[in-house]
Amino acid sequence: MLVLGIESSCDETGMALYSTSAGGSLLAHALHSQVAMHQDYGGVVPELASRDHIRRVVPLLRKVLADSGRSLPEIDAVAYTQGPGLAGALLVGAAFAEALATALERPSVPVHHLEGHLLSPLLSRTPPRFPFVALLVSGGHSQLMRVTGVGEYELLGETLDDAAGEAFDKTAKLLGLGYPGGPALAELAERGRPEVVKLPRPMLKSGDLDFSFSGLKTAVLTKVRELPTIDEQQRADIARGFQDAIVEVLVSKALRAVATSGLKQLVVAGGVGANRELRRQLDARAGKARIAVFYPELEFCTDNGAMIALAGALRLQTAGDRGTAGKATGAFQVRPRWPLHCI
Ligand code: ATP
Ligand code: MG
Ligand code: FE
Repeated sequence: MLVLGIESSCDETGMALYSTSAGGSLLAHALHSQVAMHQDYGGVVPELASRDHIRRVVPLLRKVLADSGRSLPEIDAVAYTQGPGLAGALLVGAAFAEALATALERPSVPVHHLEGHLLSPLLSRTPPRFPFVALLVSGGHSQLMRVTGVGEYELLGETLDDAAGEAFDKTAKLLGLGYPGGPALAELAERGRPEVVKLPRPMLKSGDLDFSFSGLKTAVLTKVRELPTIDEQQRADIARGFQDAIVEVLVSKALRAVATSGLKQLVVAGGVGANRELRRQLDARAGKARIAVFYPELEFCTDNGAMIALAGALRLQTAGDRGTAGKATGAFQVRPRWPLHCI
């Protein structure tokens, strides 16, 4: 079965072809990032995002077909991100996917964006096996989930305010770094000295699996305001202090979640999963606890079409149980706000 996956929930247009033959493989994937377009505004401008998705979908589809040597009629199903995300951006991918599915007379598969992130490590050469605990840390979400199988997700804990990626982005802005700030802040932190700037570890000892990151951002703001001037080393030290704090909390809670679940595998997904310090700390501490940690390939940490194609394919394969895929009717909806446990 050949599944086309389309991602357009925010500022990346992603397209991918996934084949379920021979254990499953990704045949081709293509991505257009709008980062440069939104940079001048310091964040994503929804209307510009929607218009750009419209420009990109057809060329990207042509590219994945050409790269895989496949043709349109060979596509067996069209998966697309139905939500959560920006309504206008989602509508472009959904309309395109539903139109294509109708024209090809194939089923369409609406996919939850976070399910895509959660399952993305299954695209790796050494994938985890169900069940596992997932730490999902992206621009809009920070959650710990127990993943028992496709569509079987139990929320163990989540952020009470800002998401981890959001905290990275907002703190980066405070330090005068561009958008998106996460990767830039991480790079700056590599030059910072440990323990020079000490910041709180929010909810580290709360006894549950929830997070809170907005106070950390405020603590950084206070540090910045205390300084009459700020040189490059001080900025790097603050970035280091921030990153060390957030990483310590994420690692501790993730390992606690694995321990309480009685499982031995941890999956890290979402854009913050690309963070090198997070990976270093997790690998070190998980190794000691004999927990195996799985990451998506770096290019599949942030938004992409491959994870949507994969999630769509896995949903179709288990549709006998859940019946998520219907024959295209021409009617469709997007879900800008959509909690994962409601799928
Ligand atoms: P969601 O998936 O919750 O809807 P999103 O799609 O915007 O949100 P992702 O694309 O998964 O989120 O991830 C983007 C986030 O990851 C941004 O906040 C970005 O700053 C952060 N990020 C990316 N790389 C790094 C890094 N190396 N270190 C820290 N944060 C990073
Ligand atoms: Mg993005
Ligand atoms: Fe995402």
